[in-house]
Order: sequence, then C-alpha cells, then structure tokens
Amino acid sequence: MKYDYLIVGAGIYGAIFACEMNKAGKKVLVIDKRDHIAGNIYTESVEGINVHKYGAHIFHTNDKKVWDYVNSFADFNRYTNSPVANYKGELYSLPFNMYTFNKMWGVVTPEEAAAKIESQRKEAGITTPRNLEEQAISLVGTDIYEKLIKGYTMKQWGRPCTELPSFIIKRLPVRLTFDNNYFNALYQGIPMGGYTKMVENMLEGIEVRLGVDFFENRDELMSIADKIVYTGAIDGFFDYKLGYLEYRSVRFETEVLDKPNFQGNAVVNYTDSETPFTRIIEHKFFEFGTQEKTVISREYSSEWKFGDEPYYPVNDDKNGELYNAYVELSKAVPNVIFGGRLGEYKYYDMDVVVGKALSMVEAQLNG
Ligand code: UDP
Repeated sequence: MKYDYLIVGAGIYGAIFACEMNKAGKKVLVIDKRDHIAGNIYTESVEGINVHKYGAHIFHTNDKKVWDYVNSFADFNRYTNSPVANYKGELYSLPFNMYTFNKMWGVVTPEEAAAKIESQRKEAGITTPRNLEEQAISLVGTDIYEKLIKGYTMKQWGRPCTELPSFIIKRLPVRLTFDNNYFNALYQGIPMGGYTKMVENMLEGIEVRLGVDFFENRDELMSIADKIVYTGAIDGFFDYKLGYLEYRSVRFETEVLDKPNFQGNAVVNYTDSETPFTRIIEHKFFEFGTQEKTVISREYSSEWKFGDEPYYPVNDDKNGELYNAYVELSKAVPNVIFGGRLGEYKYYDMDVVVGKALSMVEAQLNG
C-alpha cells in the first residue's frame, strides 16, 4: 500500500483528518473532484472581497478545544452574525429577541413579550409540538411564525412546516433580551483572509490532487491506501442502491455592484413566500470590508436531484431509516470511514465537523 489513508474530499473534515494524520507520521493523499480545496467553505477573492462561493459560513462554537484548534490555522475576526429579516419591506431583528417582539407587537418589557407569546400559543392549542410549525408557534407565537418562519422555511426546505422535524427551528435562539447575536456560542468569527487560506494551512505539506473524481477511478484509488476516508454523500458511495437520500441543493446568483453598500448587513433573509430567493449575502460585511464595490449573492434553494451539489440533508424519519440502512451496508467495507455533513448525513455546523474529525483521528490512532 502506498498510502495509509486516502481522503476523499478536501473540505474541513478531510483537511483536518489529513493534517492530524500527517502530523502523526501517516502517509496520506487527499483528492477532490473540484478544482479547489476547502469544500463548501471555499472562499474566493472578488474585487478584494472574500466571497463565500457555496454559501455563508460563520464559525461559532462553545467548545474551547475546537476554537483553539481552528485558531491555530487562522486569525479569526470579531464578526457576530445578526441577520435581518425582510418581510415585504418590514425589517425585523434576528434571532427572535426583544427588538423583534417590539417591532412585531409594540411590547416594551420581557414580561409583555412573554405574555404575548403565551397567549398566542394557548390560542393555537399546542401542548406537545409534533412538527416544525407547532414547535415554532409554541416558541414565538403565530404572528412571528406567519411572517418570519412559514414562508422562509417552505422556501428553504421545499416542504410545509407541518411536514418538517421540529429540531430545525430549535437551532434559532429565542431571547427575552436585546441581543441580536444569532448564535448562542461563546466563540464566533470569520477567519481573516478567508476560509480557503485556513484550509490551505491545514493541508500544508500534504499531497492533494484536485479535479480527481473518486468514482471514475474507484478501483484503482481504493487499492492505493489501507483506509479510505470518504466525505461525500453516503448513498452516492453505494451507487444509490437502496434509493436516494433527500438533500436540499442551493444555487447562488452572484453580482458585483458598483457601490460600497447594498444592504448594510452581511445577511438579509427574505421571509415571505413570494420572493423566490431565501436570502441575500453581502460578503464584504463578514470582514468589515471598506472596498469601493460590493459583491452580493442571492440564494435559491431547490430539491436535490442526481448531478446537483447536495447541501442540506433532510433529516426526517423516512430519510433517517434509509440512512441507517446505508450504515448497515457500510459494515461490509470496514476500511472506509464515512465523515462530515454528507458522509454522516447530518445537519452539522462546522464546529461539530471539526470535533468529529479530531475524535476520528484519535480513534484511529488509539483505537
Ligand atoms: N428560519 C426561519 N426564518 C429565518 C431564519 C431561519 O424560519 O429568517 C428557520 C428555517 O426553518 C431554517 C432554520 O430556521 O431552516 C435554520 O436556519 P439557519 O439560519 O440556522 O440555517 P442555515 O444558516 O444553516 O442555512
């Protein structure tokens, strides 16, 4: 065997795994079908602005070990995500907090806000939420659900809120304070100089082959390493033989504008159901950019079909069962490790992926 590990996919999972194994003296090869590293956290400089080519990525974590780890590859800035919701021209603060409640209902104190939410929850008659709609109404009431959640969620997931699992909305904090920080995380920021540079640092000194499609050279590639770390979609690895797992795909329309400031914020969500895109990202504001121009991306969500890029796993019960069946199949290939958002078919944030990659390295070295 020429390599100890062949790593399929140069995203954050693959890059960290490769980096740590290389440090441990293992021989590793990283391949990626794209012509660049960094997977979906890839950033590219346009007009001096780091553009998040595969969607906005904001690093946030409560795990000090993970935070220290990523900071060893990049300096992070003090960016704090505070998206604005635009509902038919009305602007609301996100996540749901006292600014949102004041704008929606004119309430001034936390008690008034809590009472308003409670009365709307009661009126809706929800005791134990069984789906995203019921969960949302019981967290923030019907008005906020109707204006800020229903349309946006329908666009992002292509399914009504009554058919979606409630955990999706639990990602968002609800606060009776004037705190617009989208995340409940102790540590948050964007790597200065872009994510690509950070991943480049992780991959320093490691053999990386770009533009290599694992499936086109599968037999040969499987034979050059003891073990394979596969970070693509798990159903794809098994040629979809048990059926397709569902994913949401995302498409971006990116424009350079000859003005310094288009929307005054990095993220503006369009929460009505008529606007065809879910949000507009103004990339310079992730890094407090002062360039003369600006770059914006409109984000459109669609159902994944074969040939598209998979982005979000649709983690409902049906897909959960199919995923478990693929995990059963994977037991027949014990030399293949499935990792990352696609390999594990989980709606992971970046920090979780970092943690998972580090524990997999540990398990491999000590297991
Ligand atoms: N969400 C919403 N309205 C918003 C923002 C988010 O209803 O303005 C809901 C929606 O269901 C979405 C979920 O919250 O799928 C999680 O949103 P998040 O911004 O965390 O998604 P991501 O950034 O991972 O795409």
